[in-house]
Amino acid sequence: MSGVDTQLKAELRLRMYVRCSECASLIDLAEGNRPQRDIEAADMMAHKFEGHSIWLELLDIPDAV
Ligand SMILES: [Zn+2]
Repeated sequence: MSGVDTQLKAELRLRMYVRCSECASLIDLAEGNRPQRDIEAADMMAHKFEGHSIWLELLDIPDAV
């Protein structure tokens, strides 16, 4: 089952990375990379109101305030 879990996590990570520049930045930081994208204001709003931190938590990525 852990293989499936890993695959789902990889897909979720990619989706959040593409969808939201704040998530992308947090993912980059969590993986020790320099953030590739500037965080856009619209994404900051979506990130907060769509509760992206719940998804990031599933990926073991801390959501900085
Ligand atoms: Zn986000």
